[in-house]
Amino acid sequence: MALAFDEYGRPFIILKEQDQKTRLRGIEAQKANISAGKAVARILRTSLGPKGMDKMLQSPDGDVTITNDGATILEQMDVDNQIAKLMVELSRSQDYEIGDGTTGVVVMAGALLEQAEHLLERGIHPIRIAEGYEMASRIDVEHLEHIAQKFDFAPTNIEPLVQTCMTTLSSKMQVVNRCKRPLAEISVKAVLSVADLERKDVNLDLIKVEGKLGGKLEDTELIYGITVDKDMSHPQMPKQIQDAKIAILTCPFEPPKPKTKHKVDIDTVEKFQTLRQQEQKYFDDMVQKCKWFFSGGGVGGRYWYTPLQFWGRQLVLILMFVQDVGATLVICQWGFDDEANHLLMHRNLPAVRWVGGVELELIAIATGGRIVPRFQELTPEKLGRAGLVREKSFGTTKDKMLYIEHCANSRAVTIFIRGGNKMMIEETKRSIHDALCVARNLIRNNSIVYGGGSAEISCSIAVEAAADKHPGYAIRAFADALDSVPMALAENSGLQPIETLSAVKSQQIKENNPHFGIDCNDVGTNDMREQNVFETLIGKQQQILLATQVVKMILKIDDVISPSDF
Ligand code: ADP
Repeated sequence: MALAFDEYGRPFIILKEQDQKTRLRGIEAQKANISAGKAVARILRTSLGPKGMDKMLQSPDGDVTITNDGATILEQMDVDNQIAKLMVELSRSQDYEIGDGTTGVVVMAGALLEQAEHLLERGIHPIRIAEGYEMASRIDVEHLEHIAQKFDFAPTNIEPLVQTCMTTLSSKMQVVNRCKRPLAEISVKAVLSVADLERKDVNLDLIKVEGKLGGKLEDTELIYGITVDKDMSHPQMPKQIQDAKIAILTCPFEPPKPKTKHKVDIDTVEKFQTLRQQEQKYFDDMVQKCKWFFSGGGVGGRYWYTPLQFWGRQLVLILMFVQDVGATLVICQWGFDDEANHLLMHRNLPAVRWVGGVELELIAIATGGRIVPRFQELTPEKLGRAGLVREKSFGTTKDKMLYIEHCANSRAVTIFIRGGNKMMIEETKRSIHDALCVARNLIRNNSIVYGGGSAEISCSIAVEAAADKHPGYAIRAFADALDSVPMALAENSGLQPIETLSAVKSQQIKENNPHFGIDCNDVGTNDMREQNVFETLIGKQQQILLATQVVKMILKIDDVISPSDF
């Protein structure tokens, strides 16, 4: 470090270039990378399956998250190592593509890395390992296709879909697990109400998952519409509006103000007269716009001018105009003062104020309304429509929410989660996200494989058989890595991993039945078909493909150059 001065005499510090960089090469680099990847996988391994443990993570600003979801655990962990970051990315990609199986994919990648480490120690070249893994993954994906079954469901019989979502929810946090049946039903109903079964398409954006502190998890409900965390602007306004026609406004509920400031000097009577005439003309124009005025009501005719009354009358006119257009509810991005609020209540036009931009857009999309930036532009076609708008209050708290249900334009639904604490609500949100994704994946592609490690064991047997035909150790290593998923499930459920695995494996071979897995919940049978534990085929295939891809990537790195600490 040196101190120098520039041409103006200002001091500055020169830091010497960090010429001492740490560098790892060849096998050293591969081993370091593998152990970083394995370390991440080890953390998630204990979270896998229905008896998996939860993790508690504290963020730098003190927020605590308790979760069982692989993607979330990794997201919240502050990992520094580049390879560990790759594993985080891996879990994120699985979450992005499939939405479930985020723990499994990392456990699988960790197992592949572990096997690769043994092979490297035996002097096998990393490229050979990568090629072997590639081939084995292809055999695996094909075999999955072979053992997959079609899963039939109809909108009238949602039970099979509910069962699948229950499998997903059963491996979540204990509190979620307890309510898995109602939560699975809610998730399936939500997905079916936004699904296009003919095109096999589900737009999950139409499902909003909201949570509010208080109540029990059992109080979680599905709302056929949207919720807004707001209440009516006046306590005496009606709490329920049937067949609501909604004016969605981004202008404040007050007469328009000029955008620029002007200074007017009035020093003669004539100038005052002209100003007054102009203001009256403006008012008249405004009145012209109100159809109500022509039908003979209220304010028209004689009026005298004072600025205050001018303001008040404009407000009344605006309000009547809005009502005349047909609106029975006003939703406003901005606020309005007490006078306007009182007037709205008085004229029986319920209103909601300070609604955020995002919510406003959502309301507009759902109700088929237009967001109107100026009163003058309001027309009957621009009003949004909803079958029922109601304000709901919770318990003894002053908390109120607005439910906008049976909207005209959209099938958008909201899953409204209740729970005793924030962490629980957040974890339920994540679990429901997984359940929604599973239901969506099944609608898109209704092929399934059985869970509880049965698919992995069956694939392991198939890959092992292929290894006999192809030379090289990597394919066999891949088969061993596949075994680590059922082993982790057994270990997490308090069973002897190796004994349980070999028993199930020989059972599968003997009976030629790929449905035997790990009986994690001690149900009494390890036939996963009987237990109704299954996962989507595309989710399982994606896990294998993504895990292989990332492991190949890690194996191909033979030089790690990083700045040394000084
Ligand atoms: P992921 O985030 O990868 O979905 P989970 O913790 O949800 O991880 O665990 C999923 C694994 O648990 C899958 O292999 C699945 O087959 C298995 N599993 C889920 N429910 C059961 C069950 N009731 N019995 C046995 N295995 C189960």
